[in-house]
Amino acid sequence: MHSSEERTFVAIKPDAVKRGLIGRIIKRIENKGYKIIALKMLNVTKELAEQHYAEHLGKPFYNRLITYISSGPIIAMVLQGDNTVVGMRKLMGSTMPTDAEVGTLRADFAQTMEFNVIHGSDSVESAKREINLYFSPEELCPDWKTMLELVMESEG
Ligand code: UDP
Ligand code: MG
Repeated sequence: MHSSEERTFVAIKPDAVKRGLIGRIIKRIENKGYKIIALKMLNVTKELAEQHYAEHLGKPFYNRLITYISSGPIIAMVLQGDNTVVGMRKLMGSTMPTDAEVGTLRADFAQTMEFNVIHGSDSVESAKREINLYFSPEELCPDWKTMLELVMESEG
């Protein structure tokens, strides 16, 4: 797969949904030019949260993380584009909002690590796993062209 077709999984976390930040966060993703190929609001069950964050099982923050992620709806998305995994992590900023660069989502919209407004896959492998966890293949809509893709196509 060409790197311009790399996919990542992103979730606007419950605190951001409740604070009315959905539009502002999606705006930043659209500004960047990433192609949104799937998007839905859902309530994360405790079981789904445990699958999503299985790597953190046993850590001190694990129970609170599971409770929090299943405390209200999230906005789940699949993004496609050039280096989306790394690029999206850059747009999000460090896990700890006070370490995140100003201008990133976590620096600009969050105060605490616990309520850091957004999740993004940390590798291409994690992205595949998380996309499969949250979306069925029929829910993905990759067959439309962004302006960037149209330009690349016309340039051969
Ligand atoms: N988290 C937390 N306390 C910690 C570490 C992580 O509450 O000490 C939460 C935080 O919401 C973070 C999520 O657990 O986003 C997953 O942690 P990870 O280290 O995977 O960070 P991320 O990949 O989200 O940057
Ligand atoms: Mg992580």
